[in-house]
Amino acid sequence: MKEAMFYEKHEGLEVKCHLCPHNCTIKDGKTGICQVRENIGGTLFSLNYGKISSLHLDPVEKKPLQRFMPGTFTLSMGSFGCNMRCPWCQNYTISKGKPSTQDMTPREIVEIALENDYPSISYTYNEPTVYYEFMLDTAKLAREKGIKNIMVTNGFINEGPLRELLKYIDAMNIDLKTYNDKNYKKFCGADLESVKKVIEISSRACHVEITALMVTGVNDNIHELLQMIKWVASINAEIPFHLSRYYPMYKYFEPETDRDRIFEAESMAREYLKYVYTGNI
Ligand code: SF4
Ligand code: SF4
Repeated sequence: MKEAMFYEKHEGLEVKCHLCPHNCTIKDGKTGICQVRENIGGTLFSLNYGKISSLHLDPVEKKPLQRFMPGTFTLSMGSFGCNMRCPWCQNYTISKGKPSTQDMTPREIVEIALENDYPSISYTYNEPTVYYEFMLDTAKLAREKGIKNIMVTNGFINEGPLRELLKYIDAMNIDLKTYNDKNYKKFCGADLESVKKVIEISSRACHVEITALMVTGVNDNIHELLQMIKWVASINAEIPFHLSRYYPMYKYFEPETDRDRIFEAESMAREYLKYVYTGNI
């Protein structure tokens, strides 16, 4: 376990975590909403530091990143935990469960990339924000060795930790789960404005692509998608935008996204954005 960054101590062994906009107040012996930061005797610890649940080699396009080092492979690692609670989560066994893990150090991850000539490391699979300290340590080392760092994220992180991390991150894919704040709260337990802010800040600091998973009944409303697309275009019309097809999973069993609606959204997006992709079709 590693002491967590970005928290303050309160009276009576209580702590407040400022890593993500939940800003959890955590009593002694309890964890925050993400369940991977625990208050032990008035000190906040990261429970998943160096606990690797998955380590694979993926084409960078699978992240998905279409316009960052295309044609290359990326060493992709994941741990466990998440600060959202999307009922359609495809990685729920590691975002919500306690999978079996292997202990690794940042140096060991970077050495695998170096020995095999992998040009980038991706922090992905579960939400990397909640293994912040391990990602930051690994990304710093990778940067020193000339390896690029990619973060695949839900974009729910506070500005201070984000800016610190962005010094070392080269590319991000950020989920924009819906353009309806009520649905963000209801389904994911997060808020739209916080994610928009992360997209704005990050897109000025590194290469950013956005994924909109068109979940039936949540994010397949063409009018809301149009608002989302126009907002992305207002930041930068050259931000690559991925429209991804949803399939029933975990606790959400509405039918998979209507194919025609994806193509309708795709042609709508092409009116405003230069790079539009569809995925999981
Ligand atoms: S990172 Fe975890 S503990 Fe910290 S504020 Fe977010 S959900 Fe709460
Ligand atoms: S943000 Fe991603 S990892 Fe977390 S619950 Fe939602 S889909 Fe799963």
